[in-house]
Order: sequence, then C-alpha cells, then structure tokens
Amino acid sequence: MAAPRLFVDPAALHHGMAHLNKDERRYLITVLRLDIGAKVTILDGVGGLYQSTIAQVGKEAVVCELGPLETATGESEREVHLWMACIKSDRMEWLIQKATELGVAAIHLMDTARTVMHHPDGKMDRWRKIAREAAEQSERGRIPAILDSRPLAGRSLPLGAFYCAERRPDVPSIRTAAGKNAGEALHVLVGPEGGWTEAECAMFAEKGAGPVSLGTRILRAETAAIAALALLLLE
Ligand code: SAH
Repeated sequence: MAAPRLFVDPAALHHGMAHLNKDERRYLITVLRLDIGAKVTILDGVGGLYQSTIAQVGKEAVVCELGPLETATGESEREVHLWMACIKSDRMEWLIQKATELGVAAIHLMDTARTVMHHPDGKMDRWRKIAREAAEQSERGRIPAILDSRPLAGRSLPLGAFYCAERRPDVPSIRTAAGKNAGEALHVLVGPEGGWTEAECAMFAEKGAGPVSLGTRILRAETAAIAALALLLLE
C-alpha cells in the first residue's frame, strides 16, 4: 500500500518534525493501525511534500520525522477557478468533492439574483474539510480554497473569466473560449438553478467576461460545473 497522504497545517512543521494533532493521530494510529517506523507522506497544502516516518506515538499526538522538502505532484498545469452560485447543501458537498478530484484551483461561492440557497457561514468548515479529504484521496499537491465571494454584485471579476450561459448555443463552446486564453488562469462562473438574469449577463459583458456554451441541453448547476471543469482540466 502506498504511504497515506496527509495535509498538515504548515505551523505544525518545524525543526524537521511534524507535530500531528488528535484527529490526525486517530486516523494514522486507530484507523490505519500504523505504528512507529511507518511511512507517511505529509503535505503542507501549498505545494510542498515531505516523505516522513512516524517517530513517536503519544496518547493525544504523533510526531513524524520529515524527509527533505519536495515539490508535490498531482496539480494540473492549468489553473481553473470555479465561481458557483450556492446550491442545496448535499449537492454542494458532492460538487466540492468532485471538483477537487478534477483539480479545481479554488471554488468561489456567489450569491446571484436568483440564488435561493443562502448558506450560513457555519457550512464553510465542513466544505473545507471535504475539499481537504478529496485532495488527499485524489493525491493532489494542494487543497483548493473554498472562498466566500458573496455577493457577486459590485465585485470585480478577474481576467480570464467567462460565464456558462444556458440557452445560448450561438456562443463559443467552453473549450474554444479557453483555447484563446492558453497559459492564463481561467475563472468559470456557473449560475443558480434559476439561471442568470439579463442584468447579470449585461454586468458580465461590462466586466469583460464572455458567455460560453456547454451544449444545447439544460444542465443542473452542479452538472454544468463538473462538465466545465472536466473539459478544461482533462486532456
Ligand atoms: N433554469 C434555467 C437553467 C439554469 S441551469 C433555465 O431553465 O434556463 C444552471 C446554470 O448551469 C446556468 O446558469 C449555467 O451557468 C449552467 N448551464 C446549464 N446548462 C448549460 C449549458 N447548456 N451551457 C452553458 N451553461 C449551462
């Protein structure tokens, strides 16, 4: 079995040692039944990786000895951000897990004119945990950030942004549009179940974000997001 991969808070890494907390101890020692001498791959979440060895097992903590800092693999060359109108919580969880597996760089949560789900801030911790676990499982080198970019109105959009426009088979496909921005970070906006309003489409045009199509059928928001990411991140 490959060594388990664990994203650890960089603050827990010092003097060549990783000081793991209670939850990490439970995972390595109780769940995986590892002991002193076992190999663990430790990631700092921002692209660094250490091959390491369990050195001490305490009642509440574990200490691992770190190998040299290496660059983590598992990241796409292309940086793709997803801007997502909030959807129902169970579907949002599914989306965060799948988007992370596909390699999304960050997920920005938006409130749009027709967003019906307004999530309490309390959900963010759970969503970030889902992203971390999916990043570990899919062997990524980074954890995608889950960012609160609400509300959308009044916010400037980064360069390389475009929005997935339903019922617009006349606009370029997402791949065609992305091809013109080769090498730059891309920001894909996906609307809520009710779709975009005309005012929002006009605002995007003003901010330089063009419309792109995902075909003639109407996809649910999470399907649109996953299809867009797959088209941009998988060769
Ligand atoms: N209720 C709307 C559909 C909203 S679908 C209607 O009936 O018109 C939710 C979001 O998914 C849309 O805002 C859009 O961003 C994206 N989407 C769905 N299907 C799409 C398609 N074929 N092409 C591009 N984007 C699409």
